[in-house]
Amino acid sequence: MTGTAAGMGISLRGVSATYPGARVEALGDISCDLPAGARICILGENGCGKTTLLRVLTGLLPYEGSITLDGIEVSSMRRTDIASRVALMAQISPVYFAYTVRETVLLGRYAATRGGHALRLSDDEIVEECLSMAGLQELAQRPLTELSGGQLQRVFLARAWAQRTPYLLLDEPTNHLDLRYQEGLAQELLSWSAGETVTASGVSHRNTFIGVFHDVALALRLADMLLIMRGGRLIYCGDRQGALESHALDEAYGLDVIEHMRRALDVFPEG
Ligand code: ADP
Repeated sequence: MTGTAAGMGISLRGVSATYPGARVEALGDISCDLPAGARICILGENGCGKTTLLRVLTGLLPYEGSITLDGIEVSSMRRTDIASRVALMAQISPVYFAYTVRETVLLGRYAATRGGHALRLSDDEIVEECLSMAGLQELAQRPLTELSGGQLQRVFLARAWAQRTPYLLLDEPTNHLDLRYQEGLAQELLSWSAGETVTASGVSHRNTFIGVFHDVALALRLADMLLIMRGGRLIYCGDRQGALESHALDEAYGLDVIEHMRRALDVFPEG
């Protein structure tokens, strides 16, 4: 039976994390509530802890403090249980294996089905849909080693979509995309986040995306909640208006961010 679950979302309390062998914390004392259904963008300068935050949310890096995912402590969950709820698109890195585009997107279905059941017809349909969403049909049989950075980014996005999880975590998803694909992704994210995903257990979850962006203007447009970080700490967590009024963005980047964006608009004629 399908039902909508209540009390869903992610809660962090006093979360800190240190990489093995590192002398300083990468994250310190992070507390915030990320409600299900939110569109969350994480902003901050290079090295402030954005990627690390995504890693602890997905159980890839041990943490101190508490992180609950739909009420369950992340450190107590099996990887397969996390993968049935959360898809992470990490930053793209050089590819050293020659899977084809289609095989790579299909890996998202293995993650979604806990690597367990034999793939079904519906898995093929999902893969086709995700290939089409990312404009990859023509490249489906191409090995990853023969793709451009932007094409590769679309493949990893398609793999994350294919996992069909209610939480989608994206680390700098637009970095390598040309303007048309950036706009396409923005539209997809806005429409996806207005919907719900039914998990394998038959429970319907509101879709939630959490994205790290370098493009502040795009993040402000997409987000209904902003996390602004500096030096491994969370210096702002709240809505867009509050972020603009608080000057947290200026503090995070060490410059007048609104003035910087206004200058970009100066090239356009008045009106
Ligand atoms: P951001 O995503 O905001 O650019 P990161 O979360 O990647 O920043 O990094 C936060 C801090 O952790 C930085 O000081 C970075 O140098 C350090 N760091 C990142 N990855 C590792 C790692 N694998 N081992 C040790 N330190 C790391």
